Amino acid sequence: MATADVLKPDFANRRSHFIFTDDHNQLRESIRRFVIKELQPHAEEWEETTFPDWVFERMGELGFLGLDKPVEYGGQGGDYYTSLVLAEELVHAHCGGLGMGVAVQTDMTIPPILKFGTEEQKQQWAVPAIAGKKILCLGITEPDAGSDVAGIKTRAVYDAAAGEYVINGSKTFITNGHRAHCIVLVTKTDPDAGYDGFTLLLVPMDAPGVIREKRLQKLGMHASDTALLAFQDVRVPCSAVLGQVGKGFYHIMWELQGERLIGAAGSVAGAQHVFDRTLAYAKERTAFGRPIGRFQAIRHKFAEMATKIETARQMVYSTAWRFENGEYPVREITMAKLYAARIAVEVADECIQIHGGNGYMKEYGIERSWRDLRLNRIGAGSDEIMLEVIGRSYGL
Ligand SMILES: Cc1cc2nc3c(=O)[nH]c(=O)nc-3n(C[C@H](O)[C@H](O)[C@H](O)COP(=O)(O)OP(=O)(O)OC[C@H]3O[C@@H](n4cnc5c(N)ncnc54)[C@H](O)[C@@H]3O)c2cc1C
Repeated sequence: MATADVLKPDFANRRSHFIFTDDHNQLRESIRRFVIKELQPHAEEWEETTFPDWVFERMGELGFLGLDKPVEYGGQGGDYYTSLVLAEELVHAHCGGLGMGVAVQTDMTIPPILKFGTEEQKQQWAVPAIAGKKILCLGITEPDAGSDVAGIKTRAVYDAAAGEYVINGSKTFITNGHRAHCIVLVTKTDPDAGYDGFTLLLVPMDAPGVIREKRLQKLGMHASDTALLAFQDVRVPCSAVLGQVGKGFYHIMWELQGERLIGAAGSVAGAQHVFDRTLAYAKERTAFGRPIGRFQAIRHKFAEMATKIETARQMVYSTAWRFENGEYPVREITMAKLYAARIAVEVADECIQIHGGNGYMKEYGIERSWRDLRLNRIGAGSDEIMLEVIGRSYGL
């Protein structure tokens, strides 16, 4: 056998997945450069203050808020994978709340406006949001209804004489709620119509009667702002209806698919990030005369974590491929969201363990990763709701 025929494992080779082209890889590099140079240095400060609005402006200027959005609305016209690349690279800001605040803009609010909005609505909200000049938030959850979206109570009553909707109610846990210029608001317009009784409204946050009641304090994601909002006799014209009157429930279920898939991508990237940091630590930290990574018990933890991360990544990428190719793979999106969120928390937890006491210290930032990632098992639909969606998809 010639020497050239001897095959050796290429562990050091960093392959890109087949869904990504050279263009995606270049985009990845340029986003990473921007994140490390302009965002990461502020991570500690933004944990205290929340990240500033200029981040949206700067990212808009660089085209990062519209990577997969149509060119005619100021986007870059890229495929869905460009959005995945952004979500993945934002983890290098080491500031989970920032990634979440940006994802609310790019993957939760702009998409329904582009999908269901009128031309006027797209020009009014989507175009400046892609440019980073306007900030958006999404209002589904209420103090009395989160998982049970159909149980929301915020009412929008049509005042025929004025040709306006009058909104009363409250929303909670609203990301970007303090800084946003507009909220994509889920309301109940016909309490007797079941799932056909919901309507989405685009409500300017400076409309009289919109009250930013409280800045909520959280376990993690400290760089994001999270609001409790009240709506007291807020009036909006019929032109504020997003999509069809009475079809808001179905519209928001569509929106949630994109939110869950990008959330899954963020979970995988977050898990990889904390894994990489911990791997470096395990190679340097010594105990009993050797690097701790050389203990079989620790080595196996890395092996388990790496396998879980890779499994979750493959689920996200193959689901993204189906999504990009015109399918609506709700079951797979749900599985990817569930699995990625779970393993990310498991990985972060193990990484704290591998860091020992240092893992418990703020200075090392590993506990922050755990706190930030923990949200993914709750937000955008909890684990239990994901299991319900998957289970029911089999006719049970
Ligand atoms: C930091 C943060 C940011 C958020 N950002 C936003 C945002 O921008 N916009 C927005 O609208 N919402 C947002 N949310 C809300 C989030 O989506 C909800 O918290 C989530 O959907 C769960 O709803 P809930 O908190 O009301 O929990 P609940 O619905 O009260 O659930 C409580 C528990 O009961 C379980 N449960 C509920 N129903 C079932 C069932 N049928 N079967 C089994 N178990 C069940 C749940 O899984 C959970 O464990 C955010 C939340 C957080 C924490």
